[in-house]
Amino acid sequence: MRETADDLVLVINSGSSSIKYQLLDPESGAVTASGMVERIGEENGGIEHRADGKTTEHRAAIADHTAGLRLVFDTFAETGHDLADAGVRAVGHRVVHGGEVFYRPTLIDDDVVAAIADLSSLAPLHNPANVAGIESARELLPDVPQVAVFDTAFFHGLPDAAKTYAIDAKVAAAHGIRKYGFHGTSHEYVSGQVAELLGRDPADLNQIIFHLGNGASASAIRGGQPIDTTMGLTPLEGLVMGTRSGDLDPGIIAHLMRSAHLSIDQVDTLLNRDSGIKGLSGVNDFRELQRLIETGDAAAELAYNVYIHRLRRYLGAYLIDLGGVDAITFTAGVGENSPQVRADALANLSPFGIEVDPTTNTAKDRTARRISPPDAEVAVLVVPTNEELAIARAAHQVAETA
Ligand code: AMP
Repeated sequence: MRETADDLVLVINSGSSSIKYQLLDPESGAVTASGMVERIGEENGGIEHRADGKTTEHRAAIADHTAGLRLVFDTFAETGHDLADAGVRAVGHRVVHGGEVFYRPTLIDDDVVAAIADLSSLAPLHNPANVAGIESARELLPDVPQVAVFDTAFFHGLPDAAKTYAIDAKVAAAHGIRKYGFHGTSHEYVSGQVAELLGRDPADLNQIIFHLGNGASASAIRGGQPIDTTMGLTPLEGLVMGTRSGDLDPGIIAHLMRSAHLSIDQVDTLLNRDSGIKGLSGVNDFRELQRLIETGDAAAELAYNVYIHRLRRYLGAYLIDLGGVDAITFTAGVGENSPQVRADALANLSPFGIEVDPTTNTAKDRTARRISPPDAEVAVLVVPTNEELAIARAAHQVAETA
């Protein structure tokens, strides 16, 4: 079936063993189709594809990202949206690490692919997968402009004092060690939505944004530009996450290697996959955590308290960094859906003009909204993030100006 015009964008988010994708209109945000390929490289791989209100599933062994993306294209064709003829104006690729090199959405050519691959030492789990997704998509849609949109880009201009780690400057320079920040597409998109919702010029706003999903990060934004963020060289620093520790004493790593005889890869796995909410409570899904707390599970309650404690620590830091805040915004899975987290994160802060209205906070509303009392000094907001739409818009813009 032919879509309206050459105006749709295929957004590809290629992870180490998965490919998430959406075909959407960058202007209206209307989604033609979306889905996910899972367990690439395993025997029991598969695709779940949603289009026209129907879900199509296939199970198969998927050898690699090329086979995964080919399955995506075949499933599109099978469900009546042949990508070769679907009006795809651009392909937007989410790329996790842009290093010092990339700080804006970039039209992909061979040199760009090589440069993204070169940055793999900074993001060994993510950038190789992103490259695999890009190479496959270029093969399958050779005539369509492909654009890389970087998770780090929004934070490229962080002030020196915020982005510099206090280690030997020569070692840091030799190994690209600085705070890069991640979830930038989400922080940028949400901060723009906040300004729109408040009817204010972004240049006049001091904002704090909490992106609380499986991964979690906060940012302090002055006049539309971030001045600090919680994630660092890698997406491990900062807030407590589903399976990631966030901040810890760096001495713990040497201690574990010496005393527990863990290898560096085991430490990496421990901190990235077996820590955070999961490490403390045994579950990484926030809904399960809340269920456990209701049953009186002490470990789950401690995990929750550590999560909130860390969040409030950054709230305090960013309030001071910004010298006052106009808007505090919650987004992503937990931020959009847990009134409890929002209320606890901002409890007892009325001396700072920060209040949450219990009625609007707990209302079953999925739209962007204000949850502070109308007369409160600081606007507290819930804004659904939409990284796919932000990537689609960026990719479309680059394709139009290329
Ligand atoms: P994301 O990475 O943005 O998809 O967010 C995933 C996280 O959001 C998981 O920990 C989910 O448990 C959490 N989440 C989703 N829905 C809810 C909900 N209704 N209440 C609390 N947490 C939720």
